[in-house]
Amino acid sequence: MALVTSKAMFEDAYKNGYAIGAFNVNNMEIIQGITEAAKEENAPLILQVSSGARKYANHTYLMKLVEAAIIETDLPICLHLDHGDTFELCKSCVDGGFTSVMIDGSHLKLEDNIALTKKVVDYAHAHGVVVEGELGRLAGIEDAINVSAEDSSYTDPAEVEEFVTKTGVDSLAIAIGTSHGAYKFTAAQCTRNAQGVLVPPPLRFDILKEVSRRLPGFPIVLHGSSSVPQNFVKMINDNGGKMPDAVGIPEDQLREAARMSVCKINIDSDLRLAMTGSIRQYFSEHPDHFDPRQYLRPARENIKQIVKHKLVNVLGCAGKASLF
Ligand SMILES: [Zn+2]
Repeated sequence: MALVTSKAMFEDAYKNGYAIGAFNVNNMEIIQGITEAAKEENAPLILQVSSGARKYANHTYLMKLVEAAIIETDLPICLHLDHGDTFELCKSCVDGGFTSVMIDGSHLKLEDNIALTKKVVDYAHAHGVVVEGELGRLAGIEDAINVSAEDSSYTDPAEVEEFVTKTGVDSLAIAIGTSHGAYKFTAAQCTRNAQGVLVPPPLRFDILKEVSRRLPGFPIVLHGSSSVPQNFVKMINDNGGKMPDAVGIPEDQLREAARMSVCKINIDSDLRLAMTGSIRQYFSEHPDHFDPRQYLRPARENIKQIVKHKLVNVLGCAGKASLF
Protein backbone atom coordinates (compact mmCIF):
# COMPACT_ATOMS: atom_id res chain seq x y z
CA MET A 1 0.00 0.00 0.00
CA ALA A 2 1.24 3.49 -0.88
CA LEU A 3 -0.16 6.87 0.13
CA VAL A 4 -3.53 7.51 -1.50
CA THR A 5 -5.58 10.64 -2.17
CA SER A 6 -8.89 11.17 -0.39
CA LYS A 7 -10.92 11.07 -3.63
CA ALA A 8 -12.28 7.53 -3.43
CA MET A 9 -12.66 7.82 0.36
CA PHE A 10 -14.85 10.90 0.05
CA GLU A 11 -16.99 9.35 -2.70
CA ASP A 12 -17.81 6.36 -0.55
CA ALA A 13 -18.18 8.40 2.63
CA TYR A 14 -20.63 10.76 0.92
CA LYS A 15 -22.69 7.91 -0.49
CA ASN A 16 -22.84 5.95 2.74
CA GLY A 17 -23.19 8.65 5.38
CA TYR A 18 -19.90 8.54 7.23
CA ALA A 19 -16.76 10.70 7.44
CA ILE A 20 -13.02 10.11 7.32
CA GLY A 21 -11.07 11.21 10.39
CA ALA A 22 -8.29 13.71 9.74
CA PHE A 23 -5.92 13.58 12.68
CA ASN A 24 -2.99 15.96 13.13
CA VAL A 25 0.43 14.40 13.57
CA ASN A 26 3.62 15.82 15.09
CA ASN A 27 5.72 12.91 16.32
CA MET A 28 6.16 9.16 16.39
CA GLU A 29 3.93 8.35 19.37
CA ILE A 30 0.99 10.30 17.93
CA ILE A 31 1.36 8.62 14.53
CA GLN A 32 1.59 5.21 16.19
CA GLY A 33 -1.43 5.80 18.43
CA ILE A 34 -3.61 6.91 15.52
CA THR A 35 -2.53 4.26 13.05
CA GLU A 36 -2.71 1.39 15.57
CA ALA A 37 -6.29 2.44 16.34
CA ALA A 38 -7.17 2.57 12.64
CA LYS A 39 -5.54 -0.83 12.08
CA GLU A 40 -7.62 -2.43 14.82
CA GLU A 41 -10.78 -0.79 13.47
CA ASN A 42 -9.86 -1.35 9.79
CA ALA A 43 -10.48 2.34 9.07
CA PRO A 44 -9.17 4.54 6.23
CA LEU A 45 -7.21 7.53 7.51
CA ILE A 46 -6.16 11.06 6.74
CA LEU A 47 -3.02 12.09 8.59
CA GLN A 48 -2.53 15.82 8.43
CA VAL A 49 0.44 18.05 9.01
CA SER A 50 0.19 21.75 9.77
CA SER A 51 2.97 24.13 8.78
CA GLY A 52 3.80 24.30 12.51
CA ALA A 53 4.13 20.52 12.71
CA ARG A 54 6.32 20.52 9.61
CA LYS A 55 8.60 23.11 11.21
CA TYR A 56 8.64 21.19 14.52
CA ALA A 57 9.31 17.69 13.25
CA ASN A 58 10.84 18.30 9.79
CA HIS A 59 9.25 17.20 6.50
CA THR A 60 11.51 14.19 5.98
CA TYR A 61 11.01 12.79 9.49
CA LEU A 62 7.22 13.05 9.14
CA MET A 63 7.25 11.46 5.67
CA LYS A 64 9.34 8.54 6.89
CA LEU A 65 7.19 8.03 10.00
CA VAL A 66 4.05 7.96 7.87
CA GLU A 67 5.74 5.56 5.42
CA ALA A 68 6.59 3.33 8.38
CA ALA A 69 2.96 3.44 9.51
CA ILE A 70 1.83 2.28 6.05
CA ILE A 71 4.30 -0.60 6.10
CA GLU A 72 3.21 -1.62 9.60
CA THR A 73 -0.56 -1.30 9.05
CA ASP A 74 -1.11 -1.72 5.29
CA LEU A 75 -3.90 0.85 5.61
CA PRO A 76 -5.01 3.35 2.95
CA ILE A 77 -3.58 6.62 4.30
CA CYS A 78 -3.87 10.07 2.76
CA LEU A 79 -1.19 12.57 3.82
CA HIS A 80 -2.62 16.07 3.90
CA LEU A 81 -1.26 19.57 4.49
CA ASP A 82 -3.49 21.32 7.04
CA HIS A 83 -3.95 25.09 6.56
CA GLY A 84 -1.45 25.76 3.80
CA ASP A 85 -1.20 29.54 3.70
CA THR A 86 0.87 30.11 0.56
CA PHE A 87 1.21 28.60 -2.92
CA GLU A 88 4.89 27.91 -2.14
CA LEU A 89 4.10 25.83 0.96
CA CYS A 90 1.48 23.81 -0.95
CA LYS A 91 3.89 23.27 -3.85
CA SER A 92 6.60 22.14 -1.46
CA CYS A 93 4.25 19.53 0.06
CA VAL A 94 3.06 18.37 -3.40
CA ASP A 95 6.69 18.04 -4.52
CA GLY A 96 7.57 16.34 -1.24
CA GLY A 97 5.08 13.48 -1.58
CA PHE A 98 1.85 14.63 0.13
CA THR A 99 -1.30 13.37 -1.59
CA SER A 100 -3.58 16.21 -0.47
CA VAL A 101 -3.14 19.86 0.45
CA MET A 102 -5.33 22.55 1.91
CA ILE A 103 -4.96 26.11 0.74
CA ASP A 104 -6.60 28.38 3.28
CA GLY A 105 -7.49 31.67 1.64
CA SER A 106 -10.51 32.16 3.89
CA HIS A 107 -9.15 35.45 5.28
CA LEU A 108 -8.96 36.93 1.75
CA LYS A 109 -11.64 38.60 -0.32
CA LEU A 110 -13.63 36.04 -2.34
CA GLU A 111 -11.93 36.85 -5.65
CA ASP A 112 -8.45 36.67 -4.10
CA ASN A 113 -9.30 33.40 -2.31
CA ILE A 114 -10.49 32.03 -5.68
CA ALA A 115 -7.31 33.14 -7.48
CA LEU A 116 -4.95 31.68 -4.86
CA THR A 117 -6.90 28.44 -4.55
CA LYS A 118 -7.07 27.96 -8.33
CA LYS A 119 -3.30 28.41 -8.62
CA VAL A 120 -2.77 25.64 -6.05
CA VAL A 121 -5.39 23.39 -7.69
CA ASP A 122 -3.75 23.76 -11.12
CA TYR A 123 -0.36 22.74 -9.73
CA ALA A 124 -1.64 19.99 -7.44
CA HIS A 125 -3.92 18.35 -10.00
CA ALA A 126 -1.08 18.27 -12.54
CA HIS A 127 0.77 16.14 -9.96
CA GLY A 128 -2.14 13.87 -8.97
CA VAL A 129 -2.75 15.65 -5.64
CA VAL A 130 -6.17 16.77 -4.37
CA VAL A 131 -6.97 20.17 -2.82
CA GLU A 132 -9.21 21.41 0.00
CA GLY A 133 -10.31 25.06 -0.01
CA GLU A 134 -12.08 27.08 2.68
CA LEU A 135 -14.91 29.61 2.79
CA GLY A 136 -15.92 31.29 6.06
CA ARG A 137 -13.71 31.79 9.09
CA LEU A 138 -13.59 29.63 12.21
CA ALA A 139 -12.89 31.28 15.56
CA GLY A 140 -10.19 29.90 17.83
CA ILE A 141 -6.48 29.16 17.90
CA GLU A 142 -4.58 26.46 16.03
CA ASP A 143 -0.84 26.78 15.60
CA ALA A 144 -0.32 29.99 13.62
CA ILE A 145 -4.05 30.53 13.03
CA ASN A 146 -5.67 32.84 15.58
CA VAL A 147 -9.10 34.25 14.79
CA SER A 148 -11.10 36.17 17.40
CA ALA A 149 -14.82 35.57 17.78
CA GLU A 150 -15.51 39.02 16.29
CA ASP A 151 -13.47 38.24 13.16
CA SER A 152 -15.01 34.82 12.63
CA SER A 153 -17.88 34.36 10.20
CA TYR A 154 -20.15 31.59 9.02
CA THR A 155 -19.82 30.40 5.45
CA ASP A 156 -22.13 32.26 3.09
CA PRO A 157 -23.86 29.55 1.03
CA ALA A 158 -24.37 32.05 -1.81
CA GLU A 159 -20.60 31.92 -2.51
CA VAL A 160 -19.99 28.19 -2.63
CA GLU A 161 -20.96 27.37 -6.23
CA GLU A 162 -18.83 30.14 -7.68
CA PHE A 163 -15.88 29.17 -5.47
CA VAL A 164 -16.00 25.48 -6.29
CA THR A 165 -16.63 26.00 -10.02
CA LYS A 166 -13.95 28.61 -10.53
CA THR A 167 -11.24 26.92 -8.44
CA GLY A 168 -11.83 23.23 -9.22
CA VAL A 169 -11.22 22.24 -5.57
CA ASP A 170 -11.92 18.66 -4.52
CA SER A 171 -13.44 19.45 -1.11
CA LEU A 172 -14.56 22.53 0.81
CA ALA A 173 -14.09 23.45 4.47
CA ILE A 174 -16.97 25.52 5.81
CA ALA A 175 -17.68 27.40 9.04
CA ILE A 176 -20.93 26.34 10.73
CA GLY A 177 -19.98 26.94 14.35
CA THR A 178 -17.03 24.62 14.99
CA SER A 179 -13.90 26.29 16.32
CA HIS A 180 -10.17 25.59 16.66
CA GLY A 181 -8.52 24.67 19.96
CA ALA A 182 -9.69 23.54 23.41
CA TYR A 183 -11.41 26.83 24.29
CA LYS A 184 -13.93 26.94 21.51
CA PHE A 185 -16.53 29.07 23.24
CA THR A 186 -16.69 31.66 25.98
CA ALA A 187 -18.94 31.03 28.96
CA ALA A 188 -21.19 33.83 27.66
CA GLN A 189 -21.83 31.87 24.43
CA CYS A 190 -22.82 28.72 26.34
CA THR A 191 -25.28 27.37 28.86
CA ARG A 192 -24.25 25.00 31.68
CA ASN A 193 -25.53 21.46 32.19
CA ALA A 194 -26.36 19.85 35.55
CA GLN A 195 -22.69 18.96 36.10
CA GLY A 196 -21.66 22.58 35.56
CA VAL A 197 -19.99 21.80 32.21
CA LEU A 198 -20.45 24.38 29.46
CA VAL A 199 -22.82 23.41 26.63
CA PRO A 200 -21.95 25.23 23.40
CA PRO A 201 -24.46 26.62 20.91
CA PRO A 202 -25.55 23.99 18.33
CA LEU A 203 -23.89 23.75 14.92
CA ARG A 204 -25.64 25.59 12.09
CA PHE A 205 -27.07 22.62 10.23
CA ASP A 206 -29.21 25.02 8.21
CA ILE A 207 -26.05 26.40 6.57
CA LEU A 208 -24.68 22.90 5.96
CA LYS A 209 -27.97 21.86 4.32
CA GLU A 210 -28.04 24.92 2.08
CA VAL A 211 -24.39 24.40 1.04
CA SER A 212 -25.15 20.76 0.22
CA ARG A 213 -28.26 21.69 -1.75
CA ARG A 214 -26.13 23.99 -3.88
CA LEU A 215 -23.28 21.44 -4.22
CA PRO A 216 -24.92 18.02 -4.58
CA GLY A 217 -22.46 15.16 -4.15
CA PHE A 218 -19.62 17.48 -3.12
CA PRO A 219 -17.53 16.59 -0.04
CA ILE A 220 -17.62 19.08 2.84
CA VAL A 221 -14.95 19.38 5.57
CA LEU A 222 -15.30 20.42 9.20
CA HIS A 223 -12.30 21.88 11.01
CA GLY A 224 -12.07 22.48 14.75
CA SER A 225 -14.14 19.41 15.56
CA SER A 226 -12.66 18.13 18.77
CA SER A 227 -15.14 17.38 21.52
CA VAL A 228 -12.76 18.16 24.40
CA PRO A 229 -13.55 15.03 26.47
CA GLN A 230 -14.13 16.13 30.05
CA ASN A 231 -12.37 13.06 31.47
CA PHE A 232 -9.10 14.28 29.92
CA VAL A 233 -9.71 17.88 31.00
CA LYS A 234 -10.24 16.53 34.53
CA MET A 235 -7.10 14.37 34.30
CA ILE A 236 -5.14 17.51 33.39
CA ASN A 237 -6.72 19.69 36.09
CA ASP A 238 -6.38 17.00 38.78
CA ASN A 239 -2.66 16.73 38.10
CA GLY A 240 -1.41 20.28 38.22
CA GLY A 241 -2.95 21.58 34.97
CA LYS A 242 -5.16 24.59 34.61
CA MET A 243 -7.77 24.33 31.87
CA PRO A 244 -11.02 25.71 33.27
CA ASP A 245 -14.05 25.72 31.00
CA ALA A 246 -12.39 23.93 28.08
CA VAL A 247 -15.29 22.75 25.94
CA GLY A 248 -15.79 21.20 22.49
CA ILE A 249 -18.33 20.13 19.88
CA PRO A 250 -20.80 17.48 21.09
CA GLU A 251 -20.09 14.19 19.36
CA ASP A 252 -23.71 13.52 18.42
CA GLN A 253 -23.70 16.68 16.31
CA LEU A 254 -20.53 15.57 14.51
CA ARG A 255 -22.08 12.16 13.86
CA GLU A 256 -25.11 13.92 12.39
CA ALA A 257 -22.85 16.05 10.13
CA ALA A 258 -21.03 12.88 9.01
CA ARG A 259 -24.36 11.36 7.97
CA MET A 260 -24.91 14.39 5.75
CA SER A 261 -22.38 15.81 3.26
CA VAL A 262 -19.44 16.12 5.68
CA CYS A 263 -16.78 13.65 4.52
CA LYS A 264 -13.74 14.83 6.53
CA ILE A 265 -13.70 15.80 10.20
CA ASN A 266 -10.54 17.33 11.67
CA ILE A 267 -9.59 16.26 15.18
CA ASP A 268 -6.46 17.54 16.90
CA SER A 269 -7.14 19.01 20.35
CA ASP A 270 -8.68 15.78 21.69
CA LEU A 271 -5.44 13.92 20.99
CA ARG A 272 -3.39 16.69 22.60
CA LEU A 273 -5.61 16.52 25.69
CA ALA A 274 -5.29 12.72 25.85
CA MET A 275 -1.52 12.95 25.60
CA THR A 276 -1.11 15.80 28.08
CA GLY A 277 -3.54 14.30 30.61
CA SER A 278 -1.76 10.94 30.48
CA ILE A 279 1.67 12.46 30.94
CA ARG A 280 0.56 14.77 33.77
CA GLN A 281 -1.04 11.86 35.58
CA TYR A 282 2.03 9.70 35.09
CA PHE A 283 4.31 12.40 36.47
CA SER A 284 2.05 12.90 39.52
CA GLU A 285 1.99 9.18 40.25
CA HIS A 286 5.67 8.54 39.55
CA PRO A 287 7.66 11.63 40.52
CA ASP A 288 10.89 9.60 40.55
CA HIS A 289 10.62 8.27 36.96
CA PHE A 290 12.55 9.91 34.17
CA ASP A 291 12.53 7.46 31.23
CA PRO A 292 10.47 9.05 28.40
CA ARG A 293 9.29 5.60 27.32
CA GLN A 294 7.55 5.18 30.66
CA TYR A 295 5.33 8.25 30.31
CA LEU A 296 4.97 8.22 26.53
CA ARG A 297 3.63 4.66 26.51
CA PRO A 298 0.37 5.48 28.38
CA ALA A 299 0.09 8.71 26.35
CA ARG A 300 0.26 6.72 23.12
CA GLU A 301 -2.24 4.20 24.48
CA ASN A 302 -4.74 6.92 25.39
CA ILE A 303 -4.38 8.50 21.94
CA LYS A 304 -5.13 5.09 20.47
CA GLN A 305 -8.24 4.65 22.63
CA ILE A 306 -9.70 8.06 21.82
CA VAL A 307 -9.07 7.57 18.10
CA LYS A 308 -10.79 4.16 18.21
CA HIS A 309 -13.77 5.80 19.88
CA LYS A 310 -13.90 8.51 17.18
CA LEU A 311 -13.63 6.03 14.30
CA VAL A 312 -16.45 3.84 15.62
CA ASN A 313 -18.84 6.23 17.37
CA VAL A 314 -18.34 9.62 15.74
CA LEU A 315 -17.01 9.18 12.19
CA GLY A 316 -18.63 5.85 11.36
CA CYS A 317 -15.66 4.81 9.18
CA ALA A 318 -14.63 1.66 11.06
CA GLY A 319 -14.46 -1.39 8.78
CA LYS A 320 -14.16 0.67 5.58
CA ALA A 321 -10.40 0.47 4.95
CA SER A 322 -10.58 -2.60 2.71
CA LEU A 323 -12.68 -0.62 0.20
CA PHE A 324 -9.65 1.45 -0.85
ZN1 LIG B 1 -8.36 24.00 10.82
